Amino acid sequence: MWLRRLILGVIAISFGSLFFLVSDLPDGDLHFYALNVGQGDALFLQTPSGHRFLFDGGPGKTVVSELGAVMPFFSKRIDAIFVTHPDRDHLEGILHVLKNYEVGALYVSSFKSNAGLSGAIIRQARAAMVPVIFADERDDLELDDGVTIDLIYPFRPVITAPAAANNASLVAQVRFAGRSILITGDIEVPTEEELVRAYNEALTSTILKVPHHGSKTSSIPAFLEAVHAELAVISVGVDNSYHHPNAEVLSRLEGSGATVLRTDRAGRVEVTVSAQGAVSSTSLMR
Ligand SMILES: [Zn+2]
Repeated sequence: MWLRRLILGVIAISFGSLFFLVSDLPDGDLHFYALNVGQGDALFLQTPSGHRFLFDGGPGKTVVSELGAVMPFFSKRIDAIFVTHPDRDHLEGILHVLKNYEVGALYVSSFKSNAGLSGAIIRQARAAMVPVIFADERDDLELDDGVTIDLIYPFRPVITAPAAANNASLVAQVRFAGRSILITGDIEVPTEEELVRAYNEALTSTILKVPHHGSKTSSIPAFLEAVHAELAVISVGVDNSYHHPNAEVLSRLEGSGATVLRTDRAGRVEVTVSAQGAVSSTSLMR
């Protein structure tokens, strides 16, 4: 009897891993994940033909186990990493990703190549022969499977004092099948105003990665109106000391017609866009 149970157990485990293996392979859909990294951002994108991109790496090294859960176990390849700005809650995990994955390129904004953690990351990237690109809105990627990663901010490469880095965040609009995802780092009011002036209706996006963890210093009405998102994803730690997300921001988001998804409530969030433009979302934990 125990032998039969053991065999059944082994079969169940094998089917379990087979399921995960199959679900992680490219399937013609675009998959966008807000990884469950606590107070910070780590956003992963797998395109319909299997290109992989990481926007920010969150604090600590949790991002490595999160990537292990959403990538096939046999592949360690990430096409490119974008670091929106060099704050620890977006940056620290990147050091561990560079040590554990083959990375095609590293796009950064507001990095100082000789200072602190951003300097360490640039040294690590160069040691691994990963090209480092001090990016701006001219650095766009058009992929062979219909996905465009359009960097829309900053307008020119920026190096700022750490206190101003939030407003020098890389902002990207990812487009596929008539849908789009706006990835905003920690931009605050001045950059939101600048984006609205520069792009206005072109900011319209199906999915908004809410700026700065839902802080009260971001998500002004004019910006939310221009973006007009159906889904608003907030990457935020449980009971964080910053009291993110702010209650007024949450009601503004809901008032704008968006469904709010939060990593502190839902764990890892996945949004899928099909080739026909159908959007669905799932929470993978809790
Ligand atoms: Zn942040």
